[in-house]
Amino acid sequence: MAFFTLTLWVDHGSRMHTNYQFEFCPMCGGKCKSLNLKEHEPTRLVCSECDFIFYLDPKLVACAIVESEGKIVLLKRDIEPQKGKWVMPGGYVDRGEVVEAAALRETEEECGLQIRLKNLLGVYSYPGQLEVVIVYVAEVTSGSLMVGDETQAARLFEIEGIPWEELAFESTQDALRDYSKRGENI
Ligand SMILES: [Zn+2]
Repeated sequence: MAFFTLTLWVDHGSRMHTNYQFEFCPMCGGKCKSLNLKEHEPTRLVCSECDFIFYLDPKLVACAIVESEGKIVLLKRDIEPQKGKWVMPGGYVDRGEVVEAAALRETEEECGLQIRLKNLLGVYSYPGQLEVVIVYVAEVTSGSLMVGDETQAARLFEIEGIPWEELAFESTQDALRDYSKRGENI
């Protein structure tokens, strides 16, 4: 039995989490409806059978600006959305996973580098967007830069050479702008 309906981007096995359209209750399979439960709060999906409130939460993304030889690592995406644009290593935090561990895991999966997190650069969220992006500054401890499954290219960029017009997401731009402003002080 299908408990809910999903509309997803599917490309190379990856998933975008932006187009959920849940119709059915995950507890009992009853039909969900969108209700205004409290003033000044978003509408909530509520099961018409068992009254389960289906809260739709943000998706957490952990990223790392990885420093190496005075440069930083950027990856050219080979998946939608923003295929062909540059991002720092990162990805979705699994439920129950420590956020820092997710940044380490995603970096190793995406570009073959083991890293040490130096500090938190910032947390980036935008109205109406599902993702909350947490960005760390990190340094390489071992491994060598390689191109992962979801990547066309992996390169080291000097700060002055960051391809600002070809960055994938608003959070990529904002984080790299913050990083380039803070320079050596972090
Ligand atoms: Zn229900």
